[in-house]
Amino acid sequence: MTTIDISKRIRPIITTLLLLLFSATANPAEIKSEARGTVYICTGKYAKRYHAKKSCRGLQNCQGNVVAIDISRVGDRTPCKICKP
Ligand SMILES: [Zn+2]
Repeated sequence: MTTIDISKRIRPIITTLLLLLFSATANPAEIKSEARGTVYICTGKYAKRYHAKKSCRGLQNCQGNVVAIDISRVGDRTPCKICKP
């Protein structure tokens, strides 16, 4: 009697824990890229910097598009002196 009671109580908890575990392991890469590593660059011809903020002053006279990329892909661009990524 008691054992059945306990397993009835625990089951939803275990299910919740398993769901949490699965949702946490399902997209670790997504969480990482959100947390750090994303910088903004201008695709314009003369843009040679990467930025921490999309709203940075240095991006306002961009001749191309402002795009978000991973910091590992900045190539030979240097960090912006205004927003200091
Ligand atoms: Zn900047």
